Amino acid sequence: MGRSAHPLLVGRWKRGGLMGLNKEVRLWVEGIDETSLKCRDLHHSWNHYTAGRKGRGYERTLVCKGCDTLKVQSLSSRGMILKTKYQYIEGYLRPKGLGRVTKEENALIRLQSIIKVVES
Ligand SMILES: [Zn+2]
Repeated sequence: MGRSAHPLLVGRWKRGGLMGLNKEVRLWVEGIDETSLKCRDLHHSWNHYTAGRKGRGYERTLVCKGCDTLKVQSLSSRGMILKTKYQYIEGYLRPKGLGRVTKEENALIRLQSIIKVVES
């Protein structure tokens, strides 16, 4: 994706629907690779990876079928989730300093995802 907005985005940009986004955020979204974009748009698709006893409860690791992100859950003996942490693949996370994720940013991610489908 180049520096100018994709033709599919132009109408929405012109209507001002994404005007709340700063340029850094827009450039970052446009540069997200296809795998990460899909997971950001449609959410991760988890699969079991490892599981075992830990302390009085359990710990399991799930792996995303799309982007290989790992999700490590600590569970109580009754299966309640006590703690969840993620290990993201290189380049998945937004650069620091871009502020909070806004609904406009998520909308742009959704549109970028649609463009990838249209172009494939
Ligand atoms: Zn994923």
